[in-house]
Amino acid sequence: MTDPRVLPAPGALPRERYGLFLAVRRGTPLAIAVVALLAAAFHFDGRGWWMLACVAGIAVAWPTFLSGGAYLRSRPAIMRWDGLWALTLRPLARWLGQEDAWILSFCAWHNHRVREAFRDRKARRALILLPHCIQMARCKAGILDDLQACYDCGKCAVGDYMNAAIAGRWEGRITNRSHKAYREAREYRPDLIVAVSCTDRLLKGLIKLPETPSYVIPLALPHGMCVDTDFSVPHLMAAMEALVQPAVPPAKVQPLVREA
Ligand code: SF4
Repeated sequence: MTDPRVLPAPGALPRERYGLFLAVRRGTPLAIAVVALLAAAFHFDGRGWWMLACVAGIAVAWPTFLSGGAYLRSRPAIMRWDGLWALTLRPLARWLGQEDAWILSFCAWHNHRVREAFRDRKARRALILLPHCIQMARCKAGILDDLQACYDCGKCAVGDYMNAAIAGRWEGRITNRSHKAYREAREYRPDLIVAVSCTDRLLKGLIKLPETPSYVIPLALPHGMCVDTDFSVPHLMAAMEALVQPAVPPAKVQPLVREA
């Protein structure tokens, strides 16, 4: 039996680039609030309506200022609102040729907030969700049923993931359908999901599972959608190190000593 290959070093979590989504999500209602306030100050007619518009603008922007525990408690509602913004403006982003940038910015904004929320209180019951397309298409190893069926040949990311998962005693699922991943997540009831997928599935997953904080990592698609995709195992390791409490090694069992 060959020794497992040396795992890559996890390094630091990359900086989250959420400026685009935040500028739109927070900037638009705040701009409306400022305009309405100015209109209320300079137009005596309909001042009440302008004030109402100002308050509404502030109320819509307010959830973007929540962080830490307040963010986690309000996350289902926040995700529904933010998801609505992401989905509504997605066709415009596509028309501008910025669809991936828009979705990745939405994901990065919530990654940033999840990182803030778990900075001092790490997750105890994390679940990793991975898509089956990270396995090389021509590989016959039955990793869907048993991850350790992987031969660790080094031709795809599964081998490194398997070694890291064994070393860190991570709980993870590799699935070939999104609805199976959602079902696994609902059954396991994690306090944090770390998910790897393409941008479209990440957006849908964040909206479908708003109640569970999720840190998401986008797939690389060097051969197009759903075939021989790739992801950064060091990035996943860095996320687990930063957000999840290390698994406690099994307690040493003392051998029974028969009394003389
Ligand atoms: S590392 Fe090798 S054996 Fe394991 S899933 Fe990938 S191609 Fe198959």
